[in-house]
Formats: sequence, structure tokens, C-alpha cells
Amino acid sequence: MVEHYDYLIVGAGLFGATIAERAHRAGKSVLVIEKRSHIAGNIYTEAQNGINVHKYGAHIFHTSYDDVWEYINRFAKFNRFTNSPIAVFDGKIYNMPFNMNTFAKIWDDVVTPDDALKHIESERKEIIGTPKNLEEQAISLVGRTIYERLIKGYTEKQWGRPCSELPAFIIKRLPVRLTYDNNYFDDKYQGIPIGGYTHMVENMFEGVEILLNTDFFENREKFKSMADYIIYTGPLDEYFDYQLGELEWRSLKFETKTLDKENYQGCAVVNYPGHDKDYTRVIEHKHFEFNTSPKTIVTYEYPAAYKKGDEKYYTVNNDANNKLADGYRSLAVKEPNIVFGGRLAEYKYYDMDDVIKKALDLDIK
Ligand code: FAD
Ligand code: UDP
Repeated sequence: MVEHYDYLIVGAGLFGATIAERAHRAGKSVLVIEKRSHIAGNIYTEAQNGINVHKYGAHIFHTSYDDVWEYINRFAKFNRFTNSPIAVFDGKIYNMPFNMNTFAKIWDDVVTPDDALKHIESERKEIIGTPKNLEEQAISLVGRTIYERLIKGYTEKQWGRPCSELPAFIIKRLPVRLTYDNNYFDDKYQGIPIGGYTHMVENMFEGVEILLNTDFFENREKFKSMADYIIYTGPLDEYFDYQLGELEWRSLKFETKTLDKENYQGCAVVNYPGHDKDYTRVIEHKHFEFNTSPKTIVTYEYPAAYKKGDEKYYTVNNDANNKLADGYRSLAVKEPNIVFGGRLAEYKYYDMDDVIKKALDLDIK
């Protein structure tokens, strides 16, 4: 270890890895500190029985940014995985996102897009004017039948609140298609890095010095004095000692089982939108990589309220939290020689490609 670096990067997740790779390639000296015992942040995968297990939730890479796709392909080969989850409600399966296969299953007389539209349009009429909350937004998108079977329960479990009290934008992420296309994403590129995300991130960090099990806040002044520039990817409010108040998060609990069978659910992601189950989805990891192991590993994903010490998974971007985050952002711009980047430090619901895009667009001085 040397005494002084050009860059100190706090956090070995995807944002930290992209900056570290770019700075190292530009000839800068870089030290990365990571409080966990491993690299890769929330995209960390761990090989168990030859299957790459997504330890912090299932991750599917998808993007429409050409530069991000070109960049990330330098560190991994991507397979042809296309996310096409199914939802199980009342013992029946439905394709997600909502498309002609879903509509034909919901309404017996649906064959063509016009048949589906007839049903959707007659149900949509219930909402007059601009939708005021998620419930109204969902009904105006696909009608009450689909809302009650495939959206209501999932969303209320996920966010811990009635849909009538949630902001409409959450549901805008879900595409609605009048084609027989089960692809969850509309993006140009999609896939899973062959060999797992951890291996991909290892390649990004090649040649970079990393200290694991090292928390920035345990020695903040020393770490700050060690580099010209700091890239901070930890929680925004924690950096400022919560002086304006705590930002809100949703957490998750995972229950993972190894099963002595080859195929448990026939699909990587199965959603459970009903209130009869406490979990929202079951992940069968092997299907992400077309793995033929005689065993399988499944993870049940349970949404949970966040308490201090839990993992912070989802930002809760309602008006109150966005206002608080803005308060912290005005403090952040006054801090000299430090960039706040990524999901935790920007308090944004970023996908992986958004995080890489942000890090690629940053000037390396
Ligand atoms: P992180 O991965 O959280 O990395 C931050 C790192 O900083 C962590 O390793 C943390 O330990 C470390 N750190 C924090 N504080 C300190 C400190 N004080 N000292 C040292 N280290 C510190 N995106 C997609 O594109 N596709 C998906 O399918 C997808 N699925 C998702 C599923 C779930 C359940 C969740 C929650 C997110 C999903 N995402 C998905 C989003 C994706 O996980 C994020 O965009 C990405 O991981 C963010 O990377 P990051 O580097 O900003 O943050
Ligand atoms: N959603 C839903 N039913 C489903 C899956 C998702 O109603 O079967 C809604 C839910 O409100 C969720 C949002 O769509 O919060 C976004 O879900 P997605 O799985 O795209 O997001 P992720 O959790 O992967 O970030």
C-alpha cells in the first residue's frame, strides 16, 4: 500500500468498479475500500453446486445504451437469456409483463389485439382524468381484472402500503404490449454474464488495489487525507451523519434452498402477486445460465420494512424522501473533491446500466 492515491473509491459495487477501471486505465493510482467481505456490491453472485446464486436478488442485465453495452462486454461474455417471468395467481399462470398471452388467459374470448383492447378499454373507463395514485394508474393501464390479480397484491407486499397510497410512477416501469411477446424488457440488449456477475466485476477491478472489510466511517479523516479525489458510493444520509434526518428504504429477506432435483419451476423468475403468500417472487438461479446441474437452488424473496442495520435495497422515492434527498444533495455539492455516485449515494432507483452510464459520463481528472 502506498501513502497517497489519485482516487479513493468507497464501495466495490458496479459504480465503484466502473470508475476504478476507468481511472486505472487512465494511469491513475486507485484504492478501493469495501465494508463487506466481497466485491461486486448487490450484483454479487456466489457459485454453489456449480450454480451462480444471485445473493442480493436476481439481476438481469438490460440496456439500450450502446456505449454501456460495448463497455460491459469487455469484461464478460453475455448469454442470450431473456427475462420472461410468469405470475401465479389462484393456481393459474400468467405471462408477465402484460401482453397478448396474458390477455388471452384472463379473457377467454381474446385472440386478436382488438379483442384484448375491447376488454381493456371497457375496464379503463372507470378512471376519469389523470390517475392520482398507483391503483388508478394500474386500472387506467390494464383495467381492474388484471390490477386485482397481478398488480395489487404484489405491489402492496413490495412497498408495504395500499396501492391507493402509492405514487403512480412505480407501475410505469411495467410495459403493456398487444403482441405475443413475453420479454419483460423493451431494451435493445439483454443477457446474463456467463460465469456470474462477480467474475465480471473481478475483471473490471484487474490491477486495482482493494481493501475488503474496511468501512470508510471507521476512519473517515484518514481515508479522506489519502487521495486527491474521493468517489463515495455508500448511503447519502450516512455520509452527513443523518443531520437532516434519515432517508427511507425498503429491505428484503431471502430464503434460499438447495433441492435435490433438476428443475423446480421451469423458469428463472416466478412472481406470486397474491396476498396468500408473503413472498413476491421465487428465483431458480440455474435458469439464468441454462445450467444443467442435477441439483437446483431456489430463493424466496420476502419484502421487509427497513430497520437500522438491514440491507438497503429499494429507495422510497415519495415526495418527502425526495425533498430530504435534495437537502443532502445541496450539502454534497459543497464537499470539495468528492463525487457521490450510484444507487445509495444518489438515492435513485437505478438499474445496472444507469449506474454504468453515470460512471462512464464522469470526467476522470
Ligand atoms: P451497490 O451495489 O450497493 O454498491 C455499493 C457498495 O458500497 C456496496 O458493496 C457497499 O457494501 C459499499 N459501501 C457502502 N457503504 C460503505 C462504507 N461506509 N465503507 C465501505 N464500503 C461501503 N438492476 C438491473 O439492471 N437489473 C436487474 O434485474 C436488477 N435487479 C435488482 C433486484 C433487486 C432486488 C435490487 C434491490 C436491485 C436490482 N437492480 C437491478 C439494481 C442494481 O442492484 C443496482 O443498480 C446496482 O447494484 C447499483 O450499484 P452501486 O454500485 O450503485 O451500489
Ligand atoms: N409489479 C406487479 N406485479 C408483478 C411484478 C411487478 O405489480 O408481478 C409492479 C410492482 O409495483 C413493482 C413494479 O411493478 O414494484 C416494478 O417491478 P419490477 O419487477 O420491474 O422491479 P424490480 O423489483 O425488479 O426493481
